[in-house]
Amino acid sequence: MSSSVKMNVPIARTNLTEAEIQSVLGPLRSGWLVQGPKVREFEEKWSAFTGARYSIAVTSCTTALHLSLAALGFGPGDEAIVPAFTWIATANVVEHLGGKVVFCDIDLNTFNLDVNNAARKITPRTKAILPVHLFGLSADMGPVMELARKHNLWVVEDAACGFGSTYQGQHVGTFGDTGCFSFHPRKAITTGEGGMITTQSEALAEKLRRLRDHGAAMTDLQRHMGARPYLLADHPDAGYNQRMTDLQAALGAAQMDRAQAIIDERRRLAAVYDQAFAKLPWLKTPVHPEGYGHGFQSYPCLFQPEPIDTQSVKRVNAKRNEWMDRLQRAGISTRPATHAVHMLTFYREKYDLQPADFPMAFAANDCSISLPLFHGMTEAEQQYVIENVLGYSG
Ligand SMILES: *Cc1c(COP(=O)(O)O)cnc(C)c1O
Repeated sequence: MSSSVKMNVPIARTNLTEAEIQSVLGPLRSGWLVQGPKVREFEEKWSAFTGARYSIAVTSCTTALHLSLAALGFGPGDEAIVPAFTWIATANVVEHLGGKVVFCDIDLNTFNLDVNNAARKITPRTKAILPVHLFGLSADMGPVMELARKHNLWVVEDAACGFGSTYQGQHVGTFGDTGCFSFHPRKAITTGEGGMITTQSEALAEKLRRLRDHGAAMTDLQRHMGARPYLLADHPDAGYNQRMTDLQAALGAAQMDRAQAIIDERRRLAAVYDQAFAKLPWLKTPVHPEGYGHGFQSYPCLFQPEPIDTQSVKRVNAKRNEWMDRLQRAGISTRPATHAVHMLTFYREKYDLQPADFPMAFAANDCSISLPLFHGMTEAEQQYVIENVLGYSG
């Protein structure tokens, strides 16, 4: 492999400025710890950045997806179309509401859902489609929205990785009924745990705000600021508790002050990789087609030492794992880009599925590899990764 001194390069590393760390002390000192002025500030900054009319902070992207479907009225017996290659949470929320998960396959070129395949999965019971903007690349939202309009489907965008991702100049999360973002530490902006729902609909925004806060008609902040703080609110809905804390929101709001710089840095790092690996026939780097702005939540590649098909995928998988093991021993953390949910025990058993039922998701599961990419990555770290990748000789 390479002759340089061994380094340890994680797949991602949390990067917070001293001011961002200090921001958490504000709520601790004021004593207002849960959903209050800092949540409102974070939501306003999120709306300003994404162009979404309404932003509603919640406890995670998973609860954002769940709350979205619940607010829209998705329920028992309803079917939702979910790409087979995504984080398991996209499917789980459909199960939580008593619905049926109907998987569709993906496009191996983008790792995102294949709209033509999704169209073939529609039945009279289909109520929703959950396009996922994987790894910072928007799904093909034009055809997705057309399909949804034609069949009168709700569109809940899983934009967990979608911070900084645009489609024809428009930020993801603003196309469907709602967009759902994650602030888990693996994502570009983090609050530890945390999520954000975006929507263009005032009625839906109101419903989402109520549902995240026990179904209350008024928030605690509104009540405390109002003329009669001693009277409790009415509860028109049996809601949930999915409120973000003000500690988390302070951290999120502080990072928004350098939102564009974070995206720019991630794009710059990706461009360095793109150029370094451009001539490797066995490593397909992430595509960013015309009209798409990539946010680079991660840097997912396809390992293809030979053409990938249902015959070769297991052989390629064995080689990929062996390569990942070599990189790990060299101190470099890698991961499969994500998992194929139809191959995980719960879904495989419940819906009696085989890996080859969704061949592209199966191939992505077995042959993808994400390389370390995070803002704050040093030039030495990136060069070390590049040397080791270029040093691979099969
Ligand atoms: C991270 C992720 C989620 C889950 O986000 P949480 O905030 O951890 O709930 C859901 N979907 C996708 C595609 C993700 O990458």
